[in-house]
Amino acid sequence: MAISVFDLFKIGVGPSSSHTVGPMRAGALFVQGLRERNELEQVSRIEVRLYGSLSATGVGHGTDNATIMGLMGEWPDQIDPTLIGPRISELRETNTLQLDGRLPIEFRWERDMLLLDENLPYHPNAMTLVAYAQDGDLLHEDTYYSVGGGFVVDAAQAASGVLDADQTVLPYDFNSAAELLELCKKNDMRVSQLMMANELTWRSEADIRAGLLKLWRAMQECVNNGLKYEGTLPGGLNVRRRAAKLHRNLQEIGKPNVIGSTMSAMEWVNLFALAVNEENAAGGRMVTAPTNGAAGIIPAVLHYYMRFSDVVDESNVVDYLLAAAAVGILCKKNASISGAEVGCQGEVGSACAMAAAGLADILGGTPPQVENAAEIALEHNLGLTCDPVGGLVQVPCIERNAIAAVKAINAVQMALRGDGEHFISLDQVIRTMRDTGADMHDKYKETSRGGLAVSAIEC
Ligand code: SF4
Repeated sequence: MAISVFDLFKIGVGPSSSHTVGPMRAGALFVQGLRERNELEQVSRIEVRLYGSLSATGVGHGTDNATIMGLMGEWPDQIDPTLIGPRISELRETNTLQLDGRLPIEFRWERDMLLLDENLPYHPNAMTLVAYAQDGDLLHEDTYYSVGGGFVVDAAQAASGVLDADQTVLPYDFNSAAELLELCKKNDMRVSQLMMANELTWRSEADIRAGLLKLWRAMQECVNNGLKYEGTLPGGLNVRRRAAKLHRNLQEIGKPNVIGSTMSAMEWVNLFALAVNEENAAGGRMVTAPTNGAAGIIPAVLHYYMRFSDVVDESNVVDYLLAAAAVGILCKKNASISGAEVGCQGEVGSACAMAAAGLADILGGTPPQVENAAEIALEHNLGLTCDPVGGLVQVPCIERNAIAAVKAINAVQMALRGDGEHFISLDQVIRTMRDTGADMHDKYKETSRGGLAVSAIEC
């Protein structure tokens, strides 16, 4: 399976990659299939069946609304997030869904949006979409699995075991950190250089750079949006947005030096992460990195570097994202980046390790130091459960991103003080994440049936 940097970083909407971005894509793919088979005009009714984690925490994560927007022909990277609320309100008032954005069909929410208390065999994030013809007969039905990071596979792909249709042969393919290090050594490449060489298989260097800088601009826009708003986040928990006030406070304190690890420097990292994750919780425009729940960590560390280092240029952005993606690929291939599969260690842990790898690379770290930084960052997220209060991506998710962003920087500092030699390898930590996730009780895997989700309600 070949994974590109552009698979791991995608422009989308909040609050969740697996529960919002993936389901919207599934809805849009379903409609696309109906259109290609010339069945669209025959549809009289659509039924949405949400299973497992999509059912348990889907309403808090906007899964229901996102699926509807997909059925309306919207895609996560193109939709205007501010229009989702008004369009859902209109549908609920009129009981009319504009299929593919143009064909009105009846949609009665209580009848047609089903939250089912069962799991499908392949993955906890499952949904079935059913289209009925004018005479009431079944026209088409398909099941989709949102497997994390906005990736979606349909029933046929799941059954075949081929989760990624992309079987591209890469010049420097790697399936483990050991292989990555060996390739870097043999070809005298940095991690980011090796990743660039692989990306050239799909796109020109100019397109790769332009694409990564577009992602960086979207990350910057997300932080700026997150600094604009105050008040409480939607969803009913009354969680207050903190980034705008913190920003005002920090501007009064003054500008820190990136090299100094002062309290105020750490607070800037907190600020960038809080801004992104508050914007995510509010359903704003996001860059999935590699998921939405953990989307604050990678931008926070990059913002910090870009804003406060003495010498920066856009090539730092490109190298940072490429090196980060190398570790994201390892986590995805050998464990998971899905909270529903392995808990939050797969989301925040993977993002923390990715950010550490990216920062170590642009600070001049050797490949072993980059691997060491990622290993330290991931190791200290092992066992992290996913227990979002109220099924919302707010508590503990928002603060957790800030903590993990600071942890990533600390991991880099430790790794760069060494020579890359260390006791536990990144491969061993990723394997441990996979095994710990397999042993983890389902109530700690994005179901909001255990941990903080339960304690907070009891209190
Ligand atoms: S606890 Fe972690 S994995 Fe779960 S929703 Fe929050 S950020 Fe995502």
